[in-house]
Amino acid sequence: MNVLVVNCGSSSLKYQLIDSDSEAVLAKGLCERIGIDGRLVYQKTGLDKEITEAAMPTHKQAIQMVLDALVNEKTGAIKSLSEIDAVGHRVVHGGEKFASSIVLTPEVLKAIEECNDLAPLHNPANLIGIDACKELMPDVPMVGVFDTAFHQTMPKKAFLYGLPYEYYEKYKVRRYGFHGTSHSFVSKRTAEFLGMDLKNSKIIVAHLGNGASISAVLNGECVDTSMGLTPLEGLVMGTRSGDIDPAIMEFIAKKENLDIEGVMNVLNKKSGVQGLSKLSSDFRDLEAAANEGNELAIGAIDVFCYRVAKYIGAYVAAMNGVDAIAFTAGIGENTTIVRAKVLEYLGYLGITVDAQANEVHGEEKVISTADSKVKVCVIPTNEELAIARETVALVK
Ligand code: AMP
Repeated sequence: MNVLVVNCGSSSLKYQLIDSDSEAVLAKGLCERIGIDGRLVYQKTGLDKEITEAAMPTHKQAIQMVLDALVNEKTGAIKSLSEIDAVGHRVVHGGEKFASSIVLTPEVLKAIEECNDLAPLHNPANLIGIDACKELMPDVPMVGVFDTAFHQTMPKKAFLYGLPYEYYEKYKVRRYGFHGTSHSFVSKRTAEFLGMDLKNSKIIVAHLGNGASISAVLNGECVDTSMGLTPLEGLVMGTRSGDIDPAIMEFIAKKENLDIEGVMNVLNKKSGVQGLSKLSSDFRDLEAAANEGNELAIGAIDVFCYRVAKYIGAYVAAMNGVDAIAFTAGIGENTTIVRAKVLEYLGYLGITVDAQANEVHGEEKVISTADSKVKVCVIPTNEELAIARETVALVK
């Protein structure tokens, strides 16, 4: 089966066409600046990237361009659109309604729309992408795969905030967690890779990318994760603050003369390692600067790693132990220094690191020594493949 995986944002859209039998990517790319001017990036596997600047005033026109590229006579990955058997859509927020992926029917779409105020920046855009695909491919089955679904197994003690209970009752204010597709994929793959029984395992997944979150996965089910009602909670991220004293919001609002949107903008876009370093949200830049002795860059990396280590400690407590820790996503897969610094704090767990193995970039590898009490590994995430697998499982 060929599955088109679509991740639709407000002005951009990422896509991959995956052959689910071989799990090979046939083509991939993205549409950018939808509704502004428009730019299509398309790459058939094995060929060079093609970039087309062309007006795409709506998401429907953007998806039409993707479909045209996929069936293009010279560089298309398929001969006709009938070779697309299903579409898998990333949906950011499924609230408490969706604990797993689901075939997108009109009723389901209505239920997703009801989650819009929990993710006002993301869900409406996801729905626009779904509508556009449905218009252009009315007979192709579509599946929604939610970022929040994997975390729905969290117990109440983990997902409730210490706030008036009526906010949970009235508005569903609680912790949801994100990156669920990645945490699910990586925890399963970690057990497989290490030859462990997932159903009898304690795994901590550190998804460290520009957005970063950690999860505690007990016997294959998430029991805690660091992001909350929104992706702002938890770790220090590229530009997000992660956990802070909530009173800082009022303090900064007064000092800087900001309204609530202004403060939220600071916490989401100007904080994290970007804000701390005054330099960049990208760890490649931070590492280079740190190597040249830049104190703020060194400090930002330290804050980032310390927070990761503290969360890992917390999740060891949540599961009363840990068998394996997996690092994933851009930073987790590529940054030796971050993994090394995080693991330095965890010697008390009997973790010892194989410094040479820890030089790994972007491939599956055990980075702990043979006698380490806890296995530590790098497991590249693949959210698109996970979405394709979920889609196939529901439409086959
Ligand atoms: P993601 O959100 O998973 O795509 O991760 C993106 C982030 O990963 C970037 O902002 C960088 O901080 C980091 N990253 C990606 N590649 C590398 C690399 N080769 N070395 C260090 N950091 C990297």
